[in-house]
Amino acid sequence: MANAQLQVTFIDNERGGQSLVYRDYRFQVKNRRNDRVYWRCATRTCPATIRTLNNIPIGFNLVHNHPPNPAKLEVTKVLQHIKKRCRAETTPVPAIYKQEIAKLRTPKWNDDTQRMVEQLPTFPSQKSSLYRQREDLIPHLPTSLLNIDLQDEWTQTTAAERFLLINDGTFDKILVFATDSNLQHLANNDNNTIYADGLVTNYKGEPDIHRLIRRAAVLPLVPTAEVEDVWFHALEELENSDSTANTTPFTDYVTTYWVEANRQLWNHYQTEGPRTTNHLEGWHSGLKKMIQVPHPNIYTLLNYLKEEQAFNEITFIQYHAGGVRPTKRRKYTQLNQRLQQLKDQLQNGDITVFQFADTASYLLHLD
Ligand SMILES: [Zn+2]
Repeated sequence: MANAQLQVTFIDNERGGQSLVYRDYRFQVKNRRNDRVYWRCATRTCPATIRTLNNIPIGFNLVHNHPPNPAKLEVTKVLQHIKKRCRAETTPVPAIYKQEIAKLRTPKWNDDTQRMVEQLPTFPSQKSSLYRQREDLIPHLPTSLLNIDLQDEWTQTTAAERFLLINDGTFDKILVFATDSNLQHLANNDNNTIYADGLVTNYKGEPDIHRLIRRAAVLPLVPTAEVEDVWFHALEELENSDSTANTTPFTDYVTTYWVEANRQLWNHYQTEGPRTTNHLEGWHSGLKKMIQVPHPNIYTLLNYLKEEQAFNEITFIQYHAGGVRPTKRRKYTQLNQRLQQLKDQLQNGDITVFQFADTASYLLHLD
């Protein structure tokens, strides 16, 4: 039995379990009863064991039948860390592998690192195992919109708050994500941010649909009193077009939630300065990057949205505490000058509100 306590450490293994490490030997759980764990050496034929109570060693047999392999232990640590990141993050799997491997190349590099790296499995040999880590966390993919059935964590933020706000329609589903406090910020309009969520629609190759989406997206920039006119004008033109696409769920959604609901909550015509297009731009470019992943699916998208929500939530707290904000970028300054010119032209009666809306919609880089 132990008099002096063994200095053991623990490393994560797959499926949320742990391994125990003592003096370059790794031990795995053999038995567990409440807080008592019986560990045996990871080398199968070795008789070495350790018993712990609440992770504190209370007994052991440390006679191994083999020398320690510190390099192999380090390999296990690196691989487990990579797998843990694959389970926890939305970063592409190859990027995680690359980042963690590159971290090993430091001024501390020595013969031990060299030996460890020689034993480290390459990406092609780990690829399927790493992708499996991620797939295990993702439910079976729905085969149609009808089968989308979001449950538990997929309806919540990373902080387990309600995130799925609207789940509407059957064959043409519309999902809207927002937290109560996000809606509150939007309603208070205290940082003049407009989140153009919900515009994720494939409208390429259909000019009429393309124009419809643009006209919906530009509504926040149209004078509040004219939003209705601009939108119903867009709907009229859509009816006269040849498009056969079923746009009703989308147009109904815009009409109900944007046009007929409290327009002043999200309208930005009065907003001066770079914030107006800045946030829309940032949102769209982020979404675009995300959609370019090789195999986007609804859960990849949701993970991205959740990450985005968590980041924005924390950024908001940082800004409120006086944290440094990004400087206005030239591009946005120019965009806003252009928008201001359009507003002037509209106020002087040089252009109609419809011309204003269509021209302004091209300031939003939607495609
Ligand atoms: Zn052993």
